[in-house]
Amino acid sequence: MRVRPAELIERKRNGEELPADDVAELVLAYARDEVPDYQLAAWCMAVYFRGMTPAETFALTDAMVRSGETLDLGAALGRRVVDKHSTGGVGDKTSIAVGPIVAACGVPLGKMSGRGLGHTGGTLDKLESIPGFRVELTIEEMIAQLQEVGMAIVGQSADLVPADKKLYALRDVTATVDIMPLIASSIMSKKLAAGADAIVLDVKVGDGAFMKTLADARALAEQMREIGRRAGKEVVCLLTDMDQPLGRAVGNALEVREALATVRGEGPADFSELVLDASARLLALSDLGIDVAEGRMRAEAAVASGAALDVYERWVRAQGGDPDVSLLPDAPVRVPVPAPREGIVTRVGALAVGVAALELGAGRRSKDDVIDHAVGVLCFAKDGDAVLEGDDLAEVHARDTTSAEAAVAAVLAAYEIGDAAPAPRGILLDVVG
Ligand code: URA
Repeated sequence: MRVRPAELIERKRNGEELPADDVAELVLAYARDEVPDYQLAAWCMAVYFRGMTPAETFALTDAMVRSGETLDLGAALGRRVVDKHSTGGVGDKTSIAVGPIVAACGVPLGKMSGRGLGHTGGTLDKLESIPGFRVELTIEEMIAQLQEVGMAIVGQSADLVPADKKLYALRDVTATVDIMPLIASSIMSKKLAAGADAIVLDVKVGDGAFMKTLADARALAEQMREIGRRAGKEVVCLLTDMDQPLGRAVGNALEVREALATVRGEGPADFSELVLDASARLLALSDLGIDVAEGRMRAEAAVASGAALDVYERWVRAQGGDPDVSLLPDAPVRVPVPAPREGIVTRVGALAVGVAALELGAGRRSKDDVIDHAVGVLCFAKDGDAVLEGDDLAEVHARDTTSAEAAVAAVLAAYEIGDAAPAPRGILLDVVG
């Protein structure tokens, strides 16, 4: 390297703004294994304390994009390409419902998704609960499917943003994940490398999300929009509630069922609202030349007419899966979680429900764990719902009675029941952009 890594660590530690070229050189050298983990870890920790300027954050993002291959879906399809991404939460199956709706409205959605991380589920794991579903498509297969069906959800190619892959693994074990400019550049580098022209980012806020407060979520949204602005891309951020699980279902096959119900117009209110809003905003950013209100009408019409369901079925078949919902795996043990008293639900802790599902086997505790696609939790009662003593608050779907009992206790502890209704709170907390 032209500049010594130790000098860059020291200058960042002392609060200096680093020249864009130096930031880029540091991360590219790290991706080529020319800078050791311990120096990058020290630099990330210095960033935790000192932050990064918008110019530094963009230099980091741009260098990460340049560390690997990039895709140009727009050129391949001859269209303006839109993409969406969520910062991660509990019960977040949004892409599985949004894709078919947007595609049914004539806008192709080719998305690279990830696997679960900790208590947060991953879209690829959910889709793999569908018998036969293949997430490993070649770029050529993905483009052909986008031309034919209008949508594809695939795993991220190893050649796309390898610097993020390496850096993320390092951050995961050095207490440097929850650093705003590093999260912003990690997410945006993947979206930019995948060739999106316009991006809807669903920034989760609350107990089950990386960003615990609305102020932090807004700041992250602004940083991602600024990266987009510098890259010449339009970015709209939806700030959405993750204090309680999204919808009712948490767990892979359970979430696919709920996403499909939502595509049919029979989903839970909070999840359906988020799906329709995100779809409307994607349509408004597309080359259809319509605004959000018109996008919302078209999204609702695609659900009501069955056009979105038709795309869902064709999409799943195109990726080798069987869309017949009765073929999704079912857990052998189902145990209700009864309300201990009469009252109004004032809290359903997203993190606690996410961890309960993880412990049932819906997620991975370590990288090589095998997922149980059938297990999870259905949260019937949500914030503000009135319940009688003994009513089913939730239902645990488990592989055996021992794991079911532990999950019932954990889910019960996630619920708070009071006497007064909490202030009503919609799923959409704010829009930035
Ligand atoms: N999701 C990502 O892709 N990267 C982060 O750093 C955090 C969430």
